[in-house]
Amino acid sequence: MGQGKEVKTRTETPTEIQERGEIFFFYRPKVEREEAHSPDDVQRLYIVLRPESGERSVESKQSPDSGKEGRISHTNQTKHQGTATEGGLYGVQVHGDGKKTLPDLSKPSTPFWGFVELVTTNIEDIKSALKGEEYDTATRGHRHKPPARPLGEGIYRLVRHNPGNRSTHTHLVYKLEFPPKEEKKEPQESLNIERQGSFVIQIRNPEHGGRGQFQGLQSKRKAVFPAHLHGEFGRRKFIPADPPDLLNYQGCEFLLISASDDVEEELGLELETEEGGEQPECSDLVTTFGECASAAPLFKGMFQDL
Ligand SMILES: [Zn+2]
Repeated sequence: MGQGKEVKTRTETPTEIQERGEIFFFYRPKVEREEAHSPDDVQRLYIVLRPESGERSVESKQSPDSGKEGRISHTNQTKHQGTATEGGLYGVQVHGDGKKTLPDLSKPSTPFWGFVELVTTNIEDIKSALKGEEYDTATRGHRHKPPARPLGEGIYRLVRHNPGNRSTHTHLVYKLEFPPKEEKKEPQESLNIERQGSFVIQIRNPEHGGRGQFQGLQSKRKAVFPAHLHGEFGRRKFIPADPPDLLNYQGCEFLLISASDDVEEELGLELETEEGGEQPECSDLVTTFGECASAAPLFKGMFQDL
């Protein structure tokens, strides 16, 4: 619960935390399936980020002890887009091989494509995007779209990394609190959601056409960035998620590139979740989203209840 904290274990590692918050993973089973038993049954994997604070926003003249860093970063964002950010829904989508998983951290440099589906200040919007649906089709009759199921809960950081020998880039790093360490991790393992992970995250220039496996969103769904953010791209096709405000635009396309399953070793940054917070009643996911659907994947690390 909460955004946890991070400890820099190697002060010489040139990293800067740009954003802190909570991360939630959900998956939606394919239509007409109540739950998945393997990645083949997964329609889509979702990541919800709930930003709370960042170094940069604290730097921006607010009193660091106001206890409201989270709000500050939202306020900064408000200026640009008219809404504050309570959370974003990020759909990690089909890769070339059709799998809906995170990139495999044991195979570094595997890129996966995703996009920002929803940015909102109202958690109800996210709940409604994750819920199930009944609908009728002309050709296939009545269909049931199952609700998304919770898969993981933890903390994340957006980190600017300046290794010196190559150009500055940004990482999305996270550490799970749920499922608890001692539980199974059946769905997590099959969808490559490790206990902790580090991905290089790159934002795609919406003006560059897709090719090959990164076809991307249709033009009308692509993000329209305001001029000051659009200017960050210059002539580049991809840029770091810097500033993180880039992720506050629906239709923003990004690549997650597997980097490491050991954040400390890679970046000299130890992520610490809240002590003793491994009881289901401590779950912010359940508090926030309610008993949205079977929580067996979240608490027991299993695809289904026994
Ligand atoms: Zn790096």
